[in-house]
Amino acid sequence: MAQDTDGASRRGLLRAGGLTAAGLALGAAGAPGYPTPTPTDLGAVTEGRVTFPNWRGEADTPSGPTPNPLPPSERVGYAIIGLGRISVEEVLPAFGEAKQSKPVALVSGSPEKAREVARRYGIPESAVHSYEEMEKLRDNPEVKAVYIGLPNAMHREYTVRAAAIGKHVLCEKPMAATVEEAAEMVAACERARVKLMIAYRCQYEPYNREAIRIVRSGELGKLRSIQAVNTQSQGQVAQWRFNHRLAGGGALPDIGLYCLNATRYLTGEEPMDVFARSYSPPGDPRWSEIEESVSFMLRYPSGVIANCLTQYDAFNDKSMTLHFERGTVEMPDAFSYVGQRMYVSQRAGSMTARTERTIEHKNQFATEIDHFSECIRMDRQPHTPGEEGLQDQKLMAAIYRSAQEGRPIEMPRPPGPTRGPDPSQGG
Ligand code: NAD
Repeated sequence: MAQDTDGASRRGLLRAGGLTAAGLALGAAGAPGYPTPTPTDLGAVTEGRVTFPNWRGEADTPSGPTPNPLPPSERVGYAIIGLGRISVEEVLPAFGEAKQSKPVALVSGSPEKAREVARRYGIPESAVHSYEEMEKLRDNPEVKAVYIGLPNAMHREYTVRAAAIGKHVLCEKPMAATVEEAAEMVAACERARVKLMIAYRCQYEPYNREAIRIVRSGELGKLRSIQAVNTQSQGQVAQWRFNHRLAGGGALPDIGLYCLNATRYLTGEEPMDVFARSYSPPGDPRWSEIEESVSFMLRYPSGVIANCLTQYDAFNDKSMTLHFERGTVEMPDAFSYVGQRMYVSQRAGSMTARTERTIEHKNQFATEIDHFSECIRMDRQPHTPGEEGLQDQKLMAAIYRSAQEGRPIEMPRPPGPTRGPDPSQGG
């Protein structure tokens, strides 16, 4: 009896939705012995992709789209060069969330570490190489691209070597330790006809993309100014980040770069001039070769003034505030790996409303890697090519010069666009 009632109410729902049991997807069925599933329950395959009709009410945001991962054999294979923190803690795990990319080889100076990582990611021992024998990647057709997660001053050498064996290059930020090195990397990849992308993960992160959209849409009026902060506390332990030869600088190229790059992608402009002050607390061996703090101001053609602060000996803060004519956007954790938030303040009648915008989290390392894979597969220009890194490198050199000379430094416009087409957010 209960079954009859169920069946009757189910038929009622199907009719109300303009559907009959006869209209269910052909060839699709539920498990035997249970009421017949509806098309909403079953979903369908549309143009080679699994899709589900929206079952949520008008008031709620629909789910999906369903992920559309490439089969493993069609994914772009990467050799990971350098098995430090960024590679092992963030990038390799992110391949688990990637849909077009897979790790297929490793290059490392630590055989024991490499063997362990290879075992965990299903990479054969034959695809694990030392730095000296990196050129063996040439003969591995699975390797289409390399990811470089080495100290800054090593990026040039490994980019040039990867280009010479015909592999595309996804290189960590900062692109290099000097402008000259960055320019050489662009030239080497152009010559070898391989793609070069700088791993500016924030440009593939949903909250930062939403901030760009708000600026372009004009919904809060014109953008007037930006305040960007990236500070953290560096421990008293020996590491390459304190070595000028390997790092090329201190807080600025490591974390201040996020502020600098953000002001460029938010405005969509290039700064006319930069003015900076830098400081390092005396007597601390950590700052004997590199700077601890840099505060810098950038002036943009639209009138936007960007104030940026970066420090290596201050409590972790990775926040950004955008001031518009008719509103403010606050982004605590704008540059963090996870935990982005966004608060928009604006007038609401006789009140001021401060509302939180929530956007579905996506692993920004995965979206970044998949973007590069898509560019390789479709032969497209990456959104953050070498030119984007080169321009930041020039700006950082000007920031150091300004701090040294105590005056603003004018910036020439870059010779062409520094960014490729907007990244799709992945499927
Ligand atoms: P790390 O110190 O954890 O790793 C560096 C790796 O390089 C280690 O595996 C080390 O063994 C290897 N290496 C080879 N030769 C070396 C040498 N001569 N001296 C020191 N190390 C040597 O550093 P990391 O934090 O992984 O940073 C690596 C790169 O990634 C840097 O360019 C950094 O700016 C960048 N990074 C990017 C992000 C991001 O969010 N995109 C975050 C952290 C670091």
